[in-house]
Amino acid sequence: MTTLDDLPLRDDLRGRSPYGAPQLDVPVRLNTNENSYPVPEPVVEAIAKAVTAELRDLNRYPDRDAVALRTDLADYLGHGLTSAHVWAANGSNEIQQQLFQAFAGPGRTALGFTPAYSMHPLLALGTGTTWVDGRRGASFDLTAADAAAQVARHRPDLVLLCSPNNPTGTALDPAVLTAVLDVAPGMVVVDEAYAEFARPGTPSALTVLPGHPRLVVTRTMSKAFGFAGGRLGYLAADPAVVDAVQLVRLPYHLSALTQAAARAALAHRAALLGTVEAIKAQRDRIVATLRDRGIRVADSDANFVLFEVGGDQKTAWRGLLDRGVLIRDVGLPGWLRVTAGTPEETDAFLTAIEGLS
Ligand code: PMP
Repeated sequence: MTTLDDLPLRDDLRGRSPYGAPQLDVPVRLNTNENSYPVPEPVVEAIAKAVTAELRDLNRYPDRDAVALRTDLADYLGHGLTSAHVWAANGSNEIQQQLFQAFAGPGRTALGFTPAYSMHPLLALGTGTTWVDGRRGASFDLTAADAAAQVARHRPDLVLLCSPNNPTGTALDPAVLTAVLDVAPGMVVVDEAYAEFARPGTPSALTVLPGHPRLVVTRTMSKAFGFAGGRLGYLAADPAVVDAVQLVRLPYHLSALTQAAARAALAHRAALLGTVEAIKAQRDRIVATLRDRGIRVADSDANFVLFEVGGDQKTAWRGLLDRGVLIRDVGLPGWLRVTAGTPEETDAFLTAIEGLS
């Protein structure tokens, strides 16, 4: 049998594992921060109709620039943004890959503040970018002065901030973004995949876009919209940034079916985003209940919660799985991450946690 070792694979990819959480068939799946609620029936019908309308024309390539979809996304974001400020792709992972391709790559450096979204260093690897692991404090905190000092020291071509941060769930202090923008010599990306779940008073980096042509905000329909299977991510930035990513995007990267489905979903955003408040209530319930039980928990503005297990996290993860609850070991010694879903899923998780002690 041929193995990877027999192939002329790039040296820097040897011995690596592909990104991905286990996709296990268990009763309660709270490991990938999906929206637990299925797409409501009226939205299913609207998407089916929109997709069907495209089928006869599948002999033709789709709109390469996805202008109608970008217009709808700009309308959703508000803040005076237009289609010229917005770019869309198959998930915000692809958006971020395009940003690495356009602004980083061989001979260039990207910096993120670990622990943050674990795809960021992998995108660096895949694009031949040198990755710098920026540091956080002992409680995963990041101060403006510390962040700015690290950026000033390393002078990265790309800085990745994540707000709310994954895996901690905590929103970024706006002062950190301001300080980083002041010193960063290159692009600054704020990954806002979970922005819709933020607690009131948490400003989006979208408010800072005017006057900052090197700032990019990335968003996704995978989480709050419950559209992870649809694969639709996007960015908002100065129109010049949109021109830049078009230099590296594949032609016709967004299929006609994806564009139609996403537009139909956006047209029904009230129904889709209707689950956000219920999910936030479960998030707050998980945080409060775990804290009542004396467990250390990171503040969360997202649809997930990072908590300390008081021992080896691998053992605790396995113990929960044995009780039918799949959550995420993000590789942080002593900590695990759980997604907030339905009330019943929270019940199952809290019962399973109790059973561990
Ligand atoms: N950013 C963060 C912080 C995430 O947690 C995720 C999903 N795990 C993504 C981006 C990518 O999501 P998608 O490609 O589905 O938009």
